[in-house]
Amino acid sequence: TTTVYYDEDAEESYIEDKTVAVLGYGSQGHAHAQNLDDSGVDVIVGLREGSSSRPEAEADGLEVATPDVATEQADTVVMLIPDTVQPAVYEAIKDGLDEGDTLQFAHGFNIHYGQIEPPEHVDVTMVAPKSPGHLVRRTYKRGEGTPGLLAVYQDATGQAHEEGLAYAEAIGCTRAGVIETTFREETETDLFGEQAVLCGGVTEMVKAGFETLVDAGYAPEMAYFECLNELKLIVDLMYEGGHMEMWNSVSDTAEYGGLTRGEDVIDREGMEEILEGVQSGEFAREWISENQANRPAYRQYRGAEQNHQIEEVGERLRELFEWGEQE
Ligand code: NDP
Ligand code: MG
Ligand code: MG
Repeated sequence: TTTVYYDEDAEESYIEDKTVAVLGYGSQGHAHAQNLDDSGVDVIVGLREGSSSRPEAEADGLEVATPDVATEQADTVVMLIPDTVQPAVYEAIKDGLDEGDTLQFAHGFNIHYGQIEPPEHVDVTMVAPKSPGHLVRRTYKRGEGTPGLLAVYQDATGQAHEEGLAYAEAIGCTRAGVIETTFREETETDLFGEQAVLCGGVTEMVKAGFETLVDAGYAPEMAYFECLNELKLIVDLMYEGGHMEMWNSVSDTAEYGGLTRGEDVIDREGMEEILEGVQSGEFAREWISENQANRPAYRQYRGAEQNHQIEEVGERLRELFEWGEQE
């Protein structure tokens, strides 16, 4: 069974005397930097010349330097810039990684797929909140935290695990619970989940349901409510109490229909192919070369998504109805 770490398992001394360079001040960066600072850890935010994030970091009272200078001054360097730009920024900072320093990530892609190859004399770890950054910050300020993952890829000092756990405590994650994983497991489950279920699977299912109803002559507004808007109500129930809470809350007719028909729209072989593409590195290679080519396919897919009828119908309906602000 999985071990879950809490505050009492973390030992602050492994991080409290360190200087941490937080590279990036976006979703994760602003939250880690401010939580570390509030926890009494020395923080330098690493931002490129002319960075649009700089005024915000300075307004929040944090020291800012360029990534290479921040890395030179730091014992622990945390990569909180977009995954696609990390390899290039790594080239600019790597000379500042001294013996016994830590290079830390919040996602395993670049290490797992060999896009960043750190020297043997540094610890390489991952502390990944399972949450967007604004919640990492907001919950910390309330005295709570977001669940997180901890992984050690390379342990040069023999203290990589302890330092990672102390970092997780300093940003609030051990208040909620931290699970130990590996770079491989985090990277592959993350990519599979976002492709097959969370981002890709769900949007394709919603579009297919919408199109099936509209093509059969039903009103697009009805199709929108049925296939997209109500999804949130169903997911909220699943989130709260699992599938049984959802089944218990819908009508028996919905339950029987769903239980007997749902499987018909699932392509398990397709899912296995997605997982194989992730495991073999085929997806990673495709995405890396797509970026090198300036994202031609990405732009095309995005354009098609933007022009889909469901976007226009949704925009209209969201203006017409009063929806309560939902968390
Ligand atoms: P963001 O997209 O929010 O990062 C934006 C920051 O990166 C800005 O400060 C930006 O500064 C800086 N930046 C962008 N490009 C460059 C560049 N070329 N050189 C230097 N700095 C640059 O990142 P996220 O917080 O979303 O993600 C950071 C890491 O956290 C990733 O590894 C991601 O996978 C992981 N993660 C993200 C989660 C999330 O919810 N967002 C959840 C868990 C993990 P500028 O103003 O200069 O552009
Ligand atoms: Mg403690
Ligand atoms: Mg250093």
